[in-house]
Amino acid sequence: MVKTALITGITGQDGSYLAEHLLTQGYRIFGLVRRSSSSNLQRISHLLGNVEILPGDLLDQPSLMDAIAQAQPDEIYNLASQSYVPLSWTQPSLTAEYTGLGVARLLDSIRRCKPDAHFYQASSSEVFGQPSESPQTEDTAFRPRNPYGTAKTYGHWLTVNYRQHYGLYACCGITYTHESPRRGAEFVFRKITQGAAKIKLGLAQELKLGNLDARRDWCYAPDAVQAMWLMMQQPEPDDYIIGSGETHSVRELVACAFGVVGLDWQDYVTVDPEFYRPDEAVQLVGCIDKIRRKLQWEPQHSFEKMVEVMVRHDLELLGGGE
Ligand code: NAP
Repeated sequence: MVKTALITGITGQDGSYLAEHLLTQGYRIFGLVRRSSSSNLQRISHLLGNVEILPGDLLDQPSLMDAIAQAQPDEIYNLASQSYVPLSWTQPSLTAEYTGLGVARLLDSIRRCKPDAHFYQASSSEVFGQPSESPQTEDTAFRPRNPYGTAKTYGHWLTVNYRQHYGLYACCGITYTHESPRRGAEFVFRKITQGAAKIKLGLAQELKLGNLDARRDWCYAPDAVQAMWLMMQQPEPDDYIIGSGETHSVRELVACAFGVVGLDWQDYVTVDPEFYRPDEAVQLVGCIDKIRRKLQWEPQHSFEKMVEVMVRHDLELLGGGE
């Protein structure tokens, strides 16, 4: 039997990769897309003949109920959110609406319209904030330190509440930072791969960065969406950490990216305190033992491979690919 999935955030990085993955599994796919005055479909332009677009917005519950009623999905993936931490400081209420209350509207729509659907909530390592232990497991205390992490914490616990109270098949993937050529340019990984490509092509002279010693658990987005899908195929819903299980510093990332284009990063990178993130999360790294053991999931792309793929993509995008 053909399975049907509804994806919120299908126009985003993860949504576009998830749609590709589900198509390879033979799914019928509906994507919830909010209206905008110019097209927001660039990341899924190659999929448009194969996915069905439904209008809707996480701010508007009737549109969510209509989308669920029309799609009758077996699986619902909630990947939509205001996903940029710095913006959550300047727009905390809107972040709470999209990233927190949006989950409440969606869960309640599922309860009313399609209670047997499986539900995936995109939770985030930002729920750990300044973590109490390292690496973090599914049992580590949540101590969010920014409005985005706080909104994600609400969405996470509400998903658990609906699972326990209403018996919904609802699960949370606590994902660490994941990257790809479709990542927004405001995120540091893409900023660096794009910066190295621009300098190589003579389109920029320097790259300004913040704390080079900041360390992150970086994983590849196409690997992460595979984990999301696997979680939804299990007999019982459960929450899992999704990450690489290792950290790398921004300095290593810069050296690797400039290495791909054959340049010495120290000639081009300057440290600008303006780019320091005010509350840098330290030792944020996931323990991926549970997902390895129970779902046999492993990240398929190394840090170095991911950097190389993204730098080469940015070179090509800027017109200088080999
Ligand atoms: P992304 O590229 O920023 O995509 C966000 C998506 O949400 C876009 O499709 C956006 O639509 C949609 N959206 C935003 N507000 C909406 C609303 N009110 N109604 C309907 N759709 C709305 O994010 P991503 O990197 O794919 O991340 C996917 C999910 O994982 C997000 O929930 C994010 O917070 C979470 N997460 C991501 C990471 C990461 O490293 N990527 C790590 C942890 C957690 P438009 O195209 O119209 O803007």
